Amino acid sequence: MAAAREERILVLVRLRPLSDKEIVANEVSDWECINDNTVLYRNTLREGSTFPSAYTFDRVFRGDCLTKQVYQEGAKEIALSVVKGVNSCIFAYGQTSSGKTYTMDGITEYTVADIFDYINRHEERAFVLKFSAIEIYNEVVRDLLSSDNTQLRLHDDPERGTIVEKVTEESLKDLNHLKELLAICEAQRRIGETSLNERSSRSHQIIRLTIESSAREFLGKENSTTLAASVNFIDLAGSERASQALSTGTRLKEGCHINRSLLTLSTVVRKLSKGRQGHINFRDSKLTRILQPCLGGNARTAIICTLSPARSHVEQTRNTLLFACCAK
Ligand code: ADP
Ligand code: MG
Repeated sequence: MAAAREERILVLVRLRPLSDKEIVANEVSDWECINDNTVLYRNTLREGSTFPSAYTFDRVFRGDCLTKQVYQEGAKEIALSVVKGVNSCIFAYGQTSSGKTYTMDGITEYTVADIFDYINRHEERAFVLKFSAIEIYNEVVRDLLSSDNTQLRLHDDPERGTIVEKVTEESLKDLNHLKELLAICEAQRRIGETSLNERSSRSHQIIRLTIESSAREFLGKENSTTLAASVNFIDLAGSERASQALSTGTRLKEGCHINRSLLTLSTVVRKLSKGRQGHINFRDSKLTRILQPCLGGNARTAIICTLSPARSHVEQTRNTLLFACCAK
């Protein structure tokens, strides 16, 4: 087995275009990607202001980049490490309406397509690709593939680490099957809320793909061993939730819990970015507890920070960039 690497977190930034609605409302874009690594704040009205204007990351993607490009030039290598038996996490972090779900849905589909392609080219092994989806809302974990709304419990397994008990796992058949499952998850997230944005701005969604494989020549024999690894796609709650808590304190239970997962994630990410040794407080929130087996050790991590270019969103955009800077 390869020795644990001191792997940095890959930090990607994606600027979305102004929406038609924003254009109609005479919004202006104050942000520009000036090369593949740098995003620049350019507001002539604010010249001479004190905050930095250029931010540098592993890769930045302009408003006219397609999700396919974000996948191929950004997330792909980390997402596909799962076929080599390496766990990984791909996060989308950003304020509500900045493009997290848009980005993650596309990246999940491209990853699944490439995994199927890999499986078909490696007939010497037998593969099973499993899909599960959960939501964390108020530090309560729910199964997005199950219509009964019961709370799922976490269990510490001595070998596998934290596992989510009784979570539904579907064996993925093909890309259409994935699209059906994603539609079910989206419908589940809508339940009980006035709008999707209401709910998704407050909850975290984790989609987990697990690949199990074994060499065909040993199938059913005593010396057969199964390799398993997971890639997680995490569509985080709107990051405005975290900054609200920091600025106003935590009055509401809901605010408090949502922020517990987001704030713990920020701390964990900051520590991971400084090297993966030492004590890391994974157990302080449900999100980080569930993801721990895919965050520590030789697991690989990418964070895609999504930005709205609109002038009216400048405060949140800056908060997202500050988080992104802490992660790199
Ligand atoms: P979030 O999940 O962060 O709340 P969404 O992914 O729902 O945001 O995006 C908000 C809206 O903007 C959606 O209508 C989405 O289709 C659109 N959008 C987001 N990112 C892009 C992009 N890069 N290019 C074009 N449209 C985008
Ligand atoms: Mg969303």
